[in-house]
Amino acid sequence: MITHLRVMGTVYDVEVKPNLAADDGHWGETLQRNHSVRVDPDSDQPTVLVHETIHTIEQALNIEPIDEEHVHAIARGWVCILGDNPDMVVWLVQELFKDDQVTLKEVAAQLLEEAT
Ligand SMILES: [Zn+2]
Repeated sequence: MITHLRVMGTVYDVEVKPNLAADDGHWGETLQRNHSVRVDPDSDQPTVLVHETIHTIEQALNIEPIDEEHVHAIARGWVCILGDNPDMVVWLVQELFKDDQVTLKEVAAQLLEEAT
């Protein structure tokens, strides 16, 4: 899991919090007051992280909250699409970081190191 999430200039701490769902009935939560996102380790973490990220976007853009059913559908949809289209993920990373000093090879090496 990542430890920080930058959303349009605001940095959120990201924390894996056991028993979150048991305590309050949600797999994840976004706390605007202290810029933190929490994810239950027993959840579908990618979907929950994208779900909570959508809530941070609502705050960053100061838009009306999207109902939970739609937030979940959009989050689950994105996770499925990214999982089914690894070439899209690679292309997005290449496109978004093409001007950075970090190369895709370095990112891949870091991922492999973390996985072992
Ligand atoms: Zn939500």
